[in-house]
Amino acid sequence: MEIIIFGAPGVGKGTQAKIISQKLNIPHISTGDILREAIKNETELGKKAKEIVQRGDLVPDDIMGGLIKNTLLSDECKNGFILDGFPRTIPQAKILSDIFAELGFDSPIVIKLSADDEIIINRLSSRRTCSNCGYITNLNELEDPDVCPNCGARGTLYQRDDDKEEVIKNRLKIFHESTAPVIEYYKGKAKILEIDGALPLEEVTRQIFKGLGIN
Ligand code: AMP
Repeated sequence: MEIIIFGAPGVGKGTQAKIISQKLNIPHISTGDILREAIKNETELGKKAKEIVQRGDLVPDDIMGGLIKNTLLSDECKNGFILDGFPRTIPQAKILSDIFAELGFDSPIVIKLSADDEIIINRLSSRRTCSNCGYITNLNELEDPDVCPNCGARGTLYQRDDDKEEVIKNRLKIFHESTAPVIEYYKGKAKILEIDGALPLEEVTRQIFKGLGIN
């Protein structure tokens, strides 16, 4: 199954993508994770992307197109994947269609998660990620703010640099201007599952599984 999970930053794409990836045994391809890893390892890509990501701006389409093509060409993606964070612009959506045509993939299923900006700002400013296991959590849900509720590691929960308030506002602005129109591109080209991302996590997962015909 080829799936694109689409929506604003902080709407729950990463969390749901991880669950779907495990359930269907397909790789979770997060372009944000790939970029953060490249930045951490100071690769050529990381050096080009670092300041752009810190500002919450978009990395240029040609760089992202090359990166996604290489990833989808790899063996691990041959039985399907879930794309999280790509495409973020109409040119990226067109690049992806060309890659799908070239690699002989069917049209993707698009899961569209939505939530009001207010909810998103709230979630992003209290979002924490575990540097040990990658688990994404929220300060408001933690019994102990120092302990990862998934792996139990202490002192590993951190706030992403781009989850600071000014950067969040920029990311949301870019989402509305450049990314939101991408859904129009898929109307009539792909099956779109529209899901309310403001619902509790488990309910969002339930509705996604139902829409995908799995349980
Ligand atoms: P994410 O983890 O998906 O929120 O992505 C974090 C940051 O990585 C974004 O704010 C962008 O700076 C960059 N990024 C991730 N995916 C893309 C993409 N498809 N196109 C351009 N920039 C991206």
